[in-house]
Amino acid sequence: MTPCTDIEPWPSCTASISKPHEDEGVDNNIEAVLQEILDDDYPASISHRPVLSKSCSQTALKKCCPVYLGGSSIASGVGTSVTQRACDQLRCTSCDFRVVMFDDQEWDSSCGYLFFRNNMPDCNKLRVKLTRKQGARAYACQCSWHSAITLSELRHIPKLKWVCGQHTAC
Ligand SMILES: [Zn+2]
Ligand SMILES: [Zn+2]
Repeated sequence: MTPCTDIEPWPSCTASISKPHEDEGVDNNIEAVLQEILDDDYPASISHRPVLSKSCSQTALKKCCPVYLGGSSIASGVGTSVTQRACDQLRCTSCDFRVVMFDDQEWDSSCGYLFFRNNMPDCNKLRVKLTRKQGARAYACQCSWHSAITLSELRHIPKLKWVCGQHTAC
């Protein structure tokens, strides 16, 4: 008894699923819908392109994280933990001066606070206290100075109150 009643609905059920006309209709609908989506998509993505390049220049301001100092052989630019570059856009939070840097130079040991206080940011006057040293890079703001040779993280030099002043390169 039970097998008979169970089997009976199945053929009619499968028959309705495999009706060729209905299948075609569904396929055509999906294709039509897909085509509409694609048609809509193409002009949309093209019109978005200028917006993307605009937002690129807006987000072009990048900050080093972490901030690195380095000798003249270290590439300068935006530093990250992956791309270790010496920051070339340093700013001092203590005197609010932009940090100047001199490649292949180091500060003379006779440098003092007053020297930078009086001569910043006149590079020609600052050069008086620079001595040539291959591979070094001399950094200074109005209140502090540093000669770097190897790549070092700024946070490891507590006397320097410098931060990355943001980079505009895209
Ligand atoms: Zn930077
Ligand atoms: Zn300073």
